[in-house]
Amino acid sequence: KKRGGKNGALLYDPLIQDNTRQRAEIEQDIEEALTNDWFEAYFQPIVDLGNNRVIGYESLMRLAHPRKGLLPPSDIIRIAEETGAIGRIGNRVFEKALANLVALTRASGDDKTYLAVNFSPLQLEQTLPMLLTTLTARHHIDPRRIVVEITEATLLHDNPQIRMVLDEFSRIGCRIALDDFGTGYSSLSYLSRFPVDIVKIDQSFIRSLAADEAELRHKSRMLVEGITAISHKMECSVTAEGVETKEQRDLLQGFGVDCGQGYFFARPQPVEQLIAAYDTARKT
Ligand code: C2E
Ligand code: CA
Ligand code: CA
Ligand code: CA
Repeated sequence: KKRGGKNGALLYDPLIQDNTRQRAEIEQDIEEALTNDWFEAYFQPIVDLGNNRVIGYESLMRLAHPRKGLLPPSDIIRIAEETGAIGRIGNRVFEKALANLVALTRASGDDKTYLAVNFSPLQLEQTLPMLLTTLTARHHIDPRRIVVEITEATLLHDNPQIRMVLDEFSRIGCRIALDDFGTGYSSLSYLSRFPVDIVKIDQSFIRSLAADEAELRHKSRMLVEGITAISHKMECSVTAEGVETKEQRDLLQGFGVDCGQGYFFARPQPVEQLIAAYDTARKT
């Protein structure tokens, strides 16, 4: 891109050029990763605050690049949504996550833990519930163990196709989690208008629970407690994201929050690591 200079001449903008190059590089990483099978599904445990047990795992995508190392999802997903590669990536990562869940179930002997999967709005095509049914059947996984995570932004425009896909997911027994709750435009109204089962309170609220500033601390505590009470009235279970300290965990437990997820409990990790932990626990 070019912009007008002082004397009317067109100047080249090095910042924009850099972004274009970076973008092209990510697009290429994505194609290479699809070809060479570099996408992985890391798992982060979700813990029941009542009894400290793991009740589920959230699948978080990673691109394991042989030269650049582990690439986090944010840039990749944003660009893949623009280029349309998100569908192929999503299917690939979902298959990996299902295979991981099978391996983990074998290691833990627990066939009740759920698998939460993030879906971008562009992935919520009419064929997705059918695909999910086919893939879970192939892996002998009960679809009731699948939690479909969507963000509030997905519901913003009340697209009839998205509503239909969510209703279909509910019908086949999947649960629906509303991610990043409290950051959108009409968070509370989504609870009455869509078949939401789980509310995931955004990590920004959890972070301010222990803020240095007393008023922010107080208000965010009131908010989390209030969101929890409303969610429960709407028959939704509540999970807090980004729990990093014992203090946060204890506060959340006091507010009646059902589940927690965050570095305090465990980081997102390769499933082999979780399996090794189960094996160690069994031997000791
Ligand atoms: P998200 O769904 O809100 O996922 C939670 C993010 O918080 C993850 O970042 C996770 O690693 C991070 N996190 C977990 N515990 C803590 C904590 O205690 N402290 C802090 N500071 N962060 C924590 P990640 O893995 O980088 O993922 C970023 C976002 O990318 C996700 O946000 C999700 O929206 C998206 N995403 C990840 N995997 C997929 C995928 O397979 N498909 C799609 N469509 N989106 C995905
Ligand atoms: Ca999520
Ligand atoms: Ca989130
Ligand atoms: Ca429900």
